[in-house]
Amino acid sequence: MDVVPQKTFLEHQHLVEKLNDYNHRYYVLDDPSVPDSVYDRQMLQLQALEQDYPALLTEESPSQRVGGAPLASFVQIKHKVPMLSLDNAFVDADLADFDRRLKDRLNASEAIIYACEPKLDGAAVSLLYRDGTLIYGATRGDGSVGEDITANVRTIKSIPLKLRGQNIPALLEVRGEIYLPTVGFDALNASAIASGGKTFVNPRNAAAGSLRQLDSKITASRPLEMCAYSVGQYEGIDTPLTHHGMLNSLATWGFKINQHMEVVTGITACVDYYNRLALRRSQLPYDIDGIVFKVNQLSLQKRLGFVAKAPRWAIARKFPAQEEMTEVLDIEFQVGRTGAITPVARLRPVFVGGVTVSNATLHNGDEIARLDVRVGDSVIIRRAGDVIPQVAKVVIDRRPADTEPVMFPERCPICQSSVLRLADEAVARCTGGLFCGAQIKEAIKHFASRKAMDIDGLGDKLVELMVDESVIFSVADLYDLTVERLVGLERLAEKSAANLVAAIHESKKTTLAKFLYALGVREVGEATAQTLANNFGHIDIIGRASVDQLLEIDDIGPVVAKHITDFFRNPDNLSIIDALQTAGVNWPAIDLDDQSFKPLKGKVWVLTGGMQVMSRAEAKDVLQALGAKVASSVSTKTSQVVAGPGAGSKLTKAQSLGIPVMSEAQLIEFLMDPK
Ligand code: NAD
Repeated sequence: MDVVPQKTFLEHQHLVEKLNDYNHRYYVLDDPSVPDSVYDRQMLQLQALEQDYPALLTEESPSQRVGGAPLASFVQIKHKVPMLSLDNAFVDADLADFDRRLKDRLNASEAIIYACEPKLDGAAVSLLYRDGTLIYGATRGDGSVGEDITANVRTIKSIPLKLRGQNIPALLEVRGEIYLPTVGFDALNASAIASGGKTFVNPRNAAAGSLRQLDSKITASRPLEMCAYSVGQYEGIDTPLTHHGMLNSLATWGFKINQHMEVVTGITACVDYYNRLALRRSQLPYDIDGIVFKVNQLSLQKRLGFVAKAPRWAIARKFPAQEEMTEVLDIEFQVGRTGAITPVARLRPVFVGGVTVSNATLHNGDEIARLDVRVGDSVIIRRAGDVIPQVAKVVIDRRPADTEPVMFPERCPICQSSVLRLADEAVARCTGGLFCGAQIKEAIKHFASRKAMDIDGLGDKLVELMVDESVIFSVADLYDLTVERLVGLERLAEKSAANLVAAIHESKKTTLAKFLYALGVREVGEATAQTLANNFGHIDIIGRASVDQLLEIDDIGPVVAKHITDFFRNPDNLSIIDALQTAGVNWPAIDLDDQSFKPLKGKVWVLTGGMQVMSRAEAKDVLQALGAKVASSVSTKTSQVVAGPGAGSKLTKAQSLGIPVMSEAQLIEFLMDPK
């Protein structure tokens, strides 16, 4: 046997210590200190060393042990059949090796039949039933001894307290995963954030933590579910032939089994299954961290047996990690159009959830305080599905000695105006209004955008350049721009400058709704702008409207009403509106009593399918205000149909009658300038 070099010995010892520590935090305290990806990489290093130097391998090595010791605060339950872990495959080649090993061991040349199942990311449970009645529920613990969590499992609705159906076994030990569906996880963390409490990094930790509560009322308050995936000991039934058959029996006795389970022949079909599920992973209502492939025939499982901590007949092909650890290089404060100041963590780039992440929003000052995140910290970044990456946790153990708590700025980082945070808002804002460079830029970009004043050729880069070079200070200055002034700017040729001046001139002819939207009043989108225009008809009347008058209009709630009145009480905003009108910005007058401003008079409109920007009621109000009758069914009298996602028979009928159909986006466009 090779002599173990001193350096390797120490390296091994160091890895063992670290992994034991990670295991304790993960399994015993339900509070992992590193993401699984870091744990898995170190475990692979340990296994590689032990393979090269078998002398290093002992029974105590974390590579040979399942889970963690049960907590003394729970009664202990000994598992008659050990509850093992699973071997991991990280690449397709690992699956091919697995299949080859099995064929060699079974001396088989024909393809092996595998059961494929999503690997739910929760906590393993063992449930013992005698004559169909639940006797106890236990955690996996260290594989031989688990914790008695009977009171807690009884609170989980998908766990039958009595088995249903026929041929109930005299004794049945069901194994499965207790997990927290994504919706429940998000709700749990949202309420923890609202009460300033500690959030869970991921649904697995939340499920494991919820399950091992000494007070089962806490468990009952968490929307846990259980999915059965195997049987331990049993008596009083015929020995099932296949894993799949056994799961079907569990379903007839009242257990939930995974709907995506499939039985396939050969390892190539397993790879195909993995690829198919990988595409659906983010749409599933629960977290899965891989796919488990199991030899389907139970007699073959028996022949293959076990190694130290995992069965030989199964393997978990892991999905790419959704959590990674990285370092906070800096924390910056960005100022948005409405002055909202958003802290953003600049990160050492890290590949997680399929993308490279180098920034993560920290949302607001409360979030910084809750996480206590600092420059120099190691943080766990989570990116599940298409959700924006989040700083899930700060790894306090790794904090360098010289870090400082992050102070939310009292002055705007762009214009130095004071920063204000209203008592009922999480967001802090720069009070510089349109004098703040950051807000000016964003306000001008919005003003020029297509759905607002629609100024062709005024792109984001050009706006930034013009503000940086002090060519313009507000949206009103756009209308004083000349070709000569623009040509001096970097990269702007005379022809483009002339086109831009013409487009700015062109934009003066607009509608009241577009103008209102262009002003960028907080939370006044296109639909609200249109509602305001239709109900008040005149910019001065809108400007003078009280909160109560605004609230009389359907679809305008107290928050928007307050934003509108705040905006029009600000003298700087009023002088900009004045300057814009003086510069010639104009729109057709709306006479609310004048029946002639009913461009849709005599028309019958039908709304069908979903709407994403406006509500159905809002669209109906606006159309009626314009004179249309809004009907609920399509007939030859229908003038126009608006169809959204999910539209069915009304759309088909409109098409067959040759009635024009438009989308919600086209409707909004039409409403901005109804003729
Ligand atoms: P595992 O979670 O990788 O696999 C075994 C478990 O999978 C079973 O116990 C069972 O609970 C679950 N499972 C889900 N669906 C299943 C199905 N259909 N059939 C069978 N089993 C199914 O193994 P483990 O031993 O529980 O944990 C090891 C993993 O846990 C590591 O790979 C690592 O990712 C993570 N871990 C992380 C830390 C950390 O500090 N972050 C520490 C320890 C372990």
